[in-house]
Amino acid sequence: MAQKLSPETEEAVRARIAYFRDLGIFDFYRRDCAPSDYASSETLRAASDEVAVMPENPAAPEADLLETPLMPKALVLPTIEVAGKPIAPEDKAAALAAIRADLGECTRCALAKGRNKIVFADGDPNARLMFGGEGPGADEDAQGLPFVGRAGQLLNNMITAMGLRRDQVYIANIVKCRPPQNRVPEPEEAMTCVPFLFRQIDVIQPEVLVALGSTAATYLLGGKSPLSALRGRIHQARGRKLIVTYHPAYLLRDPRQKKEAWADLQIAMAELGLKPLPKQPS
Ligand code: URA
Repeated sequence: MAQKLSPETEEAVRARIAYFRDLGIFDFYRRDCAPSDYASSETLRAASDEVAVMPENPAAPEADLLETPLMPKALVLPTIEVAGKPIAPEDKAAALAAIRADLGECTRCALAKGRNKIVFADGDPNARLMFGGEGPGADEDAQGLPFVGRAGQLLNNMITAMGLRRDQVYIANIVKCRPPQNRVPEPEEAMTCVPFLFRQIDVIQPEVLVALGSTAATYLLGGKSPLSALRGRIHQARGRKLIVTYHPAYLLRDPRQKKEAWADLQIAMAELGLKPLPKQPS
């Protein structure tokens, strides 16, 4: 017989589920364990914390990233020479199509097994502003386009607040296939896939690149640092100006940080000569 939960535990479970929904995670399974385990809120918290580090990384310690044995602090990024000379605007679409063709029906890493669609990119090949995310979630995997779920809605709002339309920017991810349960891509997966992102950046040659969240920042910068140490200033990646901000999925979970993200976007706007709008994205 199902054990009745106390009102506090029920509330905690409800909040957890809402939080996972924000991250695009809808399927849950129940682990075999004794009914008494469900009675203890301590057990429940331990179990949910265990789950919380698995799904989409923006949920994980976005603000306080720690070094883990799986993720060395400094990464030796794949050596792809940065494209030296500009590509003519009219040639960029074809150059991107060639990268997509190279990617093919990719089976270079284990993520291929679980994906529905490869999520290559979306946007204008001649964009001045490019966003780099972590990897597709469920909606993106189904549609083959980046940032089309709830986090994507917020990203769209952020783009609009910058005075741009989504079709004027270019959006791509560190990994092009959805990691199972939206977990953070393994270093091996990210390192296998990131050369394609580098090549996309080298074609687009955006004036400003925005890394959305810690995974994007780590693999674009070639090292892992707390987001707090990276935000608020201009870095260099692939010869482009790079700004680091929170992942939209993290902002859905902690909307108080939107103000901070907006401050980051204003750095990008200043670089692009865009006028700040009075209202920040909602
Ligand atoms: N999160 C990402 O990092 N990328 C997407 O495309 C969608 C959600």
